[in-house]
Amino acid sequence: MRDRARKFALEEVLPVSAKYDRTGEFPRDVVEKAFKAGLMNLGIPKEYGGPGYGAVESVIVVEEMAAACAGITTSIYVNELGAKPIVLMGTDVQKRRFLAPLTERFGLVSFATSEPGMGSDVAGIKVTCERDGDYYVLNGDKFFITNGDFADFFVIFARLKGTKRHEGICAFVVPRETEGLSTGTPLVKLGHRASDTATVMLHNVRVPVENVIGGEGKGFFLAMQTFMHTRPAIGAMTTGLARSAMEYAINYAKQREAFEQKISGFQAVQHMIADMYARVEAMRLLTLRAAWLLDQGQDANVASSCAKLVGSEDAMRIVTDALQVYGGRGYLENYRIAKLFRDAKLYQIYEGTSQVQRQVISRYLFQDYQPIMKSF
Ligand SMILES: Cc1cc2nc3c(=O)[nH]c(=O)nc-3n(C[C@H](O)[C@H](O)[C@H](O)COP(=O)(O)OP(=O)(O)OC[C@H]3O[C@@H](n4cnc5c(N)ncnc54)[C@H](O)[C@@H]3O)c2cc1C
Repeated sequence: MRDRARKFALEEVLPVSAKYDRTGEFPRDVVEKAFKAGLMNLGIPKEYGGPGYGAVESVIVVEEMAAACAGITTSIYVNELGAKPIVLMGTDVQKRRFLAPLTERFGLVSFATSEPGMGSDVAGIKVTCERDGDYYVLNGDKFFITNGDFADFFVIFARLKGTKRHEGICAFVVPRETEGLSTGTPLVKLGHRASDTATVMLHNVRVPVENVIGGEGKGFFLAMQTFMHTRPAIGAMTTGLARSAMEYAINYAKQREAFEQKISGFQAVQHMIADMYARVEAMRLLTLRAAWLLDQGQDANVASSCAKLVGSEDAMRIVTDALQVYGGRGYLENYRIAKLFRDAKLYQIYEGTSQVQRQVISRYLFQDYQPIMKSF
């Protein structure tokens, strides 16, 4: 699988990566090729027509893709995030209606918790839903929704009117053509320009009761479960991007001369690059461990947060050091390292910021962690 993903990444993604970064266009042709190559919708179970890959297989594929282009990879793999709530808690009917078609023909699904006034605090969702006969009526705006301008359907999280915080949050499958759903103009970003990021507006959107995932009030739990399953893939993306940054730095250091020698001969440069390699290895292992726990059916909440936190923080540091190895040229858009620098920043923000991952980890440490040293 690694070889297949690597071949696709090098032949289909890398050659168009700079173009899509420059134009900010949605890379539909590449995403469609990934679908045809069987490298998309990896987590859809076999009984619904998908490949039914485990988390370990998925992170191996995602690392290769992200090594070629972070933005295109996000465009391809946000389908995993969008489909995961249905995989986890959807009914058999919902799975047949919404997951199976994703495996039969090219289609996109978006995941929407974030709003203009809220991102980290998922329990603070303000988009409302209200029961009206066999329907729920949704109102409000979702913000920062990846692939939102192109999604065939959305998984949208909303709050039952009159409820507070975690209680009353519901998850809905909402087809794009539903009356009252519209999207704004794509948001212009620092990096990940090959991914679409949209505002989704909901005005009296009527969603049938049978499109609620997991039952009324289960939305917060479902969103957290979803993140536990998808954060290792972000760890894989950070590993792929950081690996490429390291490889570019090695290559540049072997060619560039200063003080009448190759800069690769300076110990300061060698050590920066040695640190990069050690960190990439550590990122990959944390990611694989979280993925393995998921595949064993174990609680991977903390492990997933560790993979995402360490991965995104280290990727930012590695790409900063790699750019340093390039000197002034690293600051020019002519070299790929500048794009990697812009792309890496997003990993510290989406699917829970680094601060949110630290919250998850520290909650565990202060509540459930069993120390070996009982007292001093
Ligand atoms: C390109 C892009 C794509 C995205 N795609 C999606 C998507 O597909 N679907 C979706 O639902 N969302 C998406 N998001 C939204 C993303 O998940 C949020 O931006 C992110 O969760 C942070 O929320 P926020 O921007 O509202 O920041 P805020 O929550 O306002 O946070 C601002 C700052 O305060 C810090 N902070 C907040 N709370 C705490 C706390 N308790 N303790 C310590 N620090 C805290 C944060 O870490 C951050 O540094 C995307 C965002 C971007 C930029």
